[in-house]
Amino acid sequence: MNAAVDVKGWCPGALRPMPSGDGLIVRIRPSCGALSLEQADVLAELARSLGNGHIDLTRRANLQLRGLSEERLPELHHELGRLALLDGDAATEARRNIMVSPLAGLDRAESFDVRPIAAALDRALVSDKFLQALPAKFGFIVDGGGPLSISGERADIALVATGETMAFGLDTPSGMAWLGSLAPDRAIAVALVAARAFVAGAGAGRMRDDVSRVEPAVRPLLRPLHAEPTAGSRRLGLLPTAVGIAAPFGRLEAAQLHRVVRLGRQAGAADLRLSPWRSFYIGVRDATLLEGARSAGLIVDEHEPLLRIEACPGAPACRASTVDTRGDARRLAALAQAWSGRIHVSGCAKKCACSDRTDLTLIGEAGRYRVGQRLVDPIDLDSFIDMPVHG
Ligand code: SF4
Repeated sequence: MNAAVDVKGWCPGALRPMPSGDGLIVRIRPSCGALSLEQADVLAELARSLGNGHIDLTRRANLQLRGLSEERLPELHHELGRLALLDGDAATEARRNIMVSPLAGLDRAESFDVRPIAAALDRALVSDKFLQALPAKFGFIVDGGGPLSISGERADIALVATGETMAFGLDTPSGMAWLGSLAPDRAIAVALVAARAFVAGAGAGRMRDDVSRVEPAVRPLLRPLHAEPTAGSRRLGLLPTAVGIAAPFGRLEAAQLHRVVRLGRQAGAADLRLSPWRSFYIGVRDATLLEGARSAGLIVDEHEPLLRIEACPGAPACRASTVDTRGDARRLAALAQAWSGRIHVSGCAKKCACSDRTDLTLIGEAGRYRVGQRLVDPIDLDSFIDMPVHG
């Protein structure tokens, strides 16, 4: 096995895949979180022909192809290069962590189109040699505001459009601190000042570990902020300028992606936008696309019970798991129709799928689930869900 593939404890990339129970995981980071429908269609084909057909929607608005083998990587890299989805090296791709509001440039409720700012930041992160020292998980948000604003998501540095200016935020232990505002044409320069100050200071960990080293460098560059950004939320179904589609547990199958791409093309859409909510958006308001996504097994209704359950891939896809998390999560969703709480089914104590607190957490352990102090057999989940004791 390739030495690079053997390393663990980092996020996978296209050039540095991560081994898992079902083969290699390859993460694709499209620029500005958007894939042209052509790119999305070819990725679906690559997932089917080179992987096992499973595609993950990640919480950082990227895509992961699963089940690849090391022998097929050169073929995959060739195709990704042809699609302009391959970086020059693994360090560069790890640095390009920018999440963009999914309806940027589409939703008239947003203050302005932030995609040019996100694209310029992306280019700066690739070309700035000093920033090569940024930790791999260091991330940015560039957001247009509006109902689908992602300003409530966690990132080290945030730029959010508010009227004609942008709010500037740095992550702290208690969440985002909105330090001030700036003109949009100053946004990249100030974000890079903050990133460089981080590298020159701590240079490791995350912004929230020691924001005081960075704040003095940016405060003098900011104007007073009159109103903090308002976080938006996931919306699904027929929206004014798009169709919002979620995948159960963030797992999309190649055939499902092919189908929505074909329907999106027929409806005249240009691209597919990824979000951190395990959902994506196709920028056209079209009922045929909506019904096609629904009949393909995707979620277009915000009230779908599966959306209240987080479940990691579990066994057999992840070697750390002894339980079929997603199979059991689907059973729980059917059993818990009248239950309004959020559930997390995790294959092991690492809890990759969800770091938030949930109303019920089940953690796989030697073929059973630990719930608080108790161990429950998967077969007994049917009776367990009726019990009032949840941890
Ligand atoms: S929580 Fe455990 S079992 Fe689930 S994906 Fe993460 S490491 Fe694997």
